[in-house]
This record gives sequence, C-alpha cells and structure tokens, in this order.
Amino acid sequence: VNRSLPPNDPSGPVVAGVELGGTKCIALVGQGGRILDRREVPTDAPGVTLAALAAALRGLVDAWAPAALGLASFGPVSLRAGSATYGHMLPTPKPAWSGAAILPALSDGLELPVAIHTDVTGAALAENRWGSARGLDDVVYITVGTGVGVGILVGGVPVTGHMHPEAGHLRVRRVGGDAFGGACPFHGDCLEGLAAGPAIALRTARRAEQLGDDDPAWPFVAEALAEGIASLILTVSPRRVLLGGGVMLGQPHLLAPIRERTADKLAGYIASFAAHEVIAPCSLGGDAGPLGALALAETALRPHPAA
Ligand code: ADP
Ligand code: ZN
Repeated sequence: VNRSLPPNDPSGPVVAGVELGGTKCIALVGQGGRILDRREVPTDAPGVTLAALAAALRGLVDAWAPAALGLASFGPVSLRAGSATYGHMLPTPKPAWSGAAILPALSDGLELPVAIHTDVTGAALAENRWGSARGLDDVVYITVGTGVGVGILVGGVPVTGHMHPEAGHLRVRRVGGDAFGGACPFHGDCLEGLAAGPAIALRTARRAEQLGDDDPAWPFVAEALAEGIASLILTVSPRRVLLGGGVMLGQPHLLAPIRERTADKLAGYIASFAAHEVIAPCSLGGDAGPLGALALAETALRPHPAA
C-alpha cells in the first residue's frame, strides 16, 4: 500500500519542527521541504534547553501560523501513543535527559497536531519526501556518526513498535582474527561498537577524521556496516538504503566497499539486487535533521494508517 504524500508541493502546508541533537537543537518552520525560518539552541541541561526551544517555537508559531509540529529527537524516546510517558526520553547515556518530557514541554499550549519520532526516522521521511528516496516508500536510513542510528519506513510509514528500531546495536559477524573489543558500553562489538566515530577512534587511537582513505581501519568499518545492511535488507526488503552521518559524509570512499561486501554477503539470494541502486548516499546532508522534523510534522496532518 502506498500511503506516502504527493511529491514536493511548494504550496503545501507551513509546518513547524524541532530537531533535538546531541550538541545543538533547531526550531524551525518550513513549507514543501524549504526552510523558511530557524532558531538554534545549544543542547544543555534539559530544563534549560527545552524552555529555550519552547520560547523559540512560540515565536515561530506566532509569526508563521504553522499547521502542525514535528519533533525529531535523539533517542531513545518513548513512542507509545496513549502511555503516560509518550514523547518522554527513555533512560539514555546522556543521564540528565533520562525521563525528560520532550513532547509536553514543546507542544503544550500550541494546540497543533504533533508527531514525534527519532532523528533518523525523520531523516528517512525527509529523504522520501524531498531527497534521494523520492517515490520509494520502503527506506532504511542509516547514520554513522557519534553512534549508528537506523530509521525505517515501510510503505511510507515509520516503523514504530515497542519503541523504535535500534538497529545500530545489531550484532554483526566479525572479520576473522579481529581482536578489537568494540566501543559500545552495552554490547562491545555491536554494529555501533565497531563502526561509529568513537569506535574508529578507540581502534586507531586517532580521530576518525584524521585517517587517510587507505587506513587499515576502514575495511573493518565497511565490513561491520555491510553485515548490518545485509541483515536489514533481508528483514525489511527496502527499495533504498541511505547512508549519512559524519563518518559517511567525511569518508565517501567507504561506499564502494560497503556495496561490494553487502552484495557478497547476500550471495545472489535476493533476486535482481543491485547494490549500486539500493545502497546510496543520503542527499539532504546537514539539513536532514531539521527537514526530518518538518516531514514528521506533515505526518501529523495525514490520517493515521490504522484509522
Ligand atoms: P552526531 O552523530 O553527533 O549527530 P555526526 O553525524 O557529525 O554527529 O558524527 C560525528 C562523528 O563523525 C564523530 O565521531 C566524528 O569523529 C566523525 N567524523 C566527522 N567528520 C569525519 C570525517 N571527515 N571522517 C571520519 N569521521 C568523521
Ligand atoms: Zn550496542
């Protein structure tokens, strides 16, 4: 079933969004994938940050009269509609933010339809609306940055269940003989523990951005990502797997070995799988987060698929 919205419509509704990121947050309004106005707030203690964002948002709402609000947040966040903790931060490695009531803090009093999801789900929706997954409604968006985050759309609808996908923590088969223990505080050598920026830094004792294209660490990173991508392709059957985040954007040479290793792992099993078609770089770059919040806002305006 295709439940996606019609393609980019510059006369579409003006909507508001907030992207909550690890270092900065952005409140904005936009229309049809175009950002009309934005305010930035540094990520600090949740009380301070959420109050500043709520004030910025109130200013934007008064000026632009948006039709809906979308919240795209770092996770993990509770997405159980109807539960007392809907839109609250779950226990997180950023301890001060555990339990922070994001959705109420940002939407109370605005009287707007509101949607909340992860930043990566927002990015998947934005790529589906305005980027390199346009017209393709089965999308996996993977960010490789400070962590590995995965957002998934099936039939244009974000996958939401007990909470949201956490496929950055998939266990992956290791390169034979690789003794690196990994960097995930929960799992050690899960996908994030092998491929995110801090994992690369732990393995090499250098910052990931300082490594040359031919550094011996990269094949381990590509192998872990190919393992994760092959598992996601087998599970979700996506039309596109989009790769973003600081590591992927900064190391474009990773794309070719990731495609090659993923195809090797699938070993011809998926009929007509073409790695260079399915696996692609994201196209919205640094705007994927804020545009994701706007794309989420648009979902608050369409009928719920179950309705
Ligand atoms: P976040 O995940 O916090 O939203 P980013 O997506 O920018 O932020 O990812 C930050 C991570 O990306 C850091 O671990 C950093 O070391 C890594 N990174 C940034 N630039 C590069 C680069 N040019 N090459 C490799 N890694 C990079
Ligand atoms: Zn993990």
